[in-house]
Amino acid sequence: MLAPQLKRQNKEPVDTTLIAALRSNFRGQLILPTDSAYDTARRIWNGNIDRHPGLIARCAGTADVVQAVKFARANDLLVAVRGGGHNVAGRALCDDGIVIDLSGMRGVFVDPRQRTVRVQPGATLGDVDRETHLHGLAVPAGVVSRTGIAGLALGGGVGWLARKHGLTCDNLLSCEVVTADGDLTAADDTTNADLFWGLRGGGGNFGIVTSFLFRAHPVSMVFGGLVVYPRDQARAVLRRHRDLMPSAPEDFAAYAALLSTPDGVPAVAILGCHCGDPAEGERIWQPFRSIATPLLDAVQPLPFPMMQGLIDAAFPEGAHNYWKSSFLKEQSDDSIDLIVELGNRAPSPMSSLVVEFYGGAVARADHPDTAFAQRRPAFNLGIMAQWTDPADTERNITWARDAADAVAPFASGGYLLNFLDEEGADTVRAAFGANYPRLAALKSKYDPTNFFRLNQNVLPAH
Ligand SMILES: Cc1cc2nc3c(=O)[nH]c(=O)nc-3n(C[C@H](O)[C@H](O)[C@H](O)COP(=O)(O)OP(=O)(O)OC[C@H]3O[C@@H](n4cnc5c(N)ncnc54)[C@H](O)[C@@H]3O)c2cc1C
Repeated sequence: MLAPQLKRQNKEPVDTTLIAALRSNFRGQLILPTDSAYDTARRIWNGNIDRHPGLIARCAGTADVVQAVKFARANDLLVAVRGGGHNVAGRALCDDGIVIDLSGMRGVFVDPRQRTVRVQPGATLGDVDRETHLHGLAVPAGVVSRTGIAGLALGGGVGWLARKHGLTCDNLLSCEVVTADGDLTAADDTTNADLFWGLRGGGGNFGIVTSFLFRAHPVSMVFGGLVVYPRDQARAVLRRHRDLMPSAPEDFAAYAALLSTPDGVPAVAILGCHCGDPAEGERIWQPFRSIATPLLDAVQPLPFPMMQGLIDAAFPEGAHNYWKSSFLKEQSDDSIDLIVELGNRAPSPMSSLVVEFYGGAVARADHPDTAFAQRRPAFNLGIMAQWTDPADTERNITWARDAADAVAPFASGGYLLNFLDEEGADTVRAAFGANYPRLAALKSKYDPTNFFRLNQNVLPAH
């Protein structure tokens, strides 16, 4: 392979004097392929992604983001935007072009009186929880603490608190945005309200968010954890989850997962969190803890940040990942039988099939009008292939693709934007559902040249 270097989209190299000029007006780090920091800086969570950007602009603040966008535009560079670097398809990286890397901007500032939290775009969910927990507050987000809040919030954001308090994007109050022209602007209910609509579920299509203001909720201790059963109980566990979740109280969120124990024994688990009264939490959990004799019952009162970090170890940095996901029309006995069979065929003990049910505040009519399209209460199946040896890549990707094909007869045709791996334009369109035409019109207003296109891309309407 030729040594990587910064190239324009027509493949012409960018003169080093231009990079030197950018350096004179940049507070963060500009990392080139020749720098010793380069190989570490181009690494993201998914070890299966191996890209070689021509320049990594690790921004120290909003002014650096503005400079990086203007430089990219002036030099016709392909642009990737990196928040937490957790997007499974590696949308945070590109070859030859520039990565506008926000991972150094991790500030989190809580206003306990207003119950609001200002968050910079490189923060992880764990960074946010660490600060909010000091005040007995939490922002609804995901389920793994190392996920970046920026990408998660822009794609919607489902997690332990969503059934009670809504999606992450439902709790977004305002954004500071650098547009495709390098202008700094605001977006909220009254300023650029159309842009604000698109930022809540439309992904990274409309600009780089350099600051998020979220609403926080009083959540401190929760009653949660996981209960693990032998794999031969998988049907019973998935059926219990199917039967109880649609009528469960909104305080309670639970996922059913076919996974393996850390020593590789196939198992099935319920993972969940009750964020209301602990005695009620214990009562709600009871039917999930008594399906059979568990291998492990680790359900207990927990500080919320601990709940958020509970399954971090199951998603280690640098492991190889390939994901598929799909909402289901229904979770029938037949779909459950199929999911169990597919889980039993997983070639890697690190892989999992996870059935999630949202509903509650996600589906209620009182949520704000946002670009997030998949609100109806439904089961979502995540097919998560994970392995460590690159020699196993083909086998694991084939398993995930075959599993997605096999569940197609049960699929609703809807997808969760945040879980999309490298998919075709039709799948992206289906994830945006009925909102796609409005998003395309917004794209032609805010990014008519599709400058921001390494994302779940919306094409400008012309
Ligand atoms: C282990 C794991 C667990 C997960 N769990 C959940 C979950 O529980 N719920 C859920 O909803 N999702 C979940 N996800 C999916 C996650 O929300 C997405 O992968 C999301 O993209 C991660 O955000 P990030 O900032 O880390 O992304 P990055 O990989 O850094 O960026 C991804 C894309 O987001 C856009 N982007 C990032 N930052 C900005 C910004 N500041 N401005 C504009 N665009 C930006 C860019 O288009 C970029 O291409 C999980 C992912 C992983 C790997």
